Amino acid sequence: MDSALATAETLCIEQGQRLTKVRRRALELIWESHRPLGAYQLLAKLAEEGFNSAPPTVYRALDFLLGAGLIHKVESMNAYLGCAHADKAHKGYFLICDECHNVMEFDYQDIHAALIAKAAQQGFELRAETIELTGLCAECKATNTSAANTQGTRT
Ligand SMILES: [Zn+2]
Ligand SMILES: [Zn+2]
Repeated sequence: MDSALATAETLCIEQGQRLTKVRRRALELIWESHRPLGAYQLLAKLAEEGFNSAPPTVYRALDFLLGAGLIHKVESMNAYLGCAHADKAHKGYFLICDECHNVMEFDYQDIHAALIAKAAQQGFELRAETIELTGLCAECKATNTSAANTQGTRT
């Protein structure tokens, strides 16, 4: 979280941008949330804290944070997630748990290269990649398994 803010500051200086109070607070709120945060949830929280929470202001803040690579958008949830490796340019590929709705980012390098190669075979230039896989996270899987065991049933 602190390092995310530090990265944000550095990136802003490098890009000649300003990390305004709304942008900084939006980034903090997205990081503090354990689940991806929707734009309207963010808007409500900012309003509670007395920020200018007009939708254009909030969307501009989100666009800035997205553009700077500080957050990712999880398309299928229409929500935003803090990125732990904002200093490296990358796409966000996600594992989304059906049970607890936790979202994990996973390493994309190999898949990214494969996608570009496959698309190029069709003469297609890739612009956006939305890779969001759903399933059961390790924790929920463990809980489900132990619950099934105590009931003496297995699936
Ligand atoms: Zn990321
Ligand atoms: Zn889970």
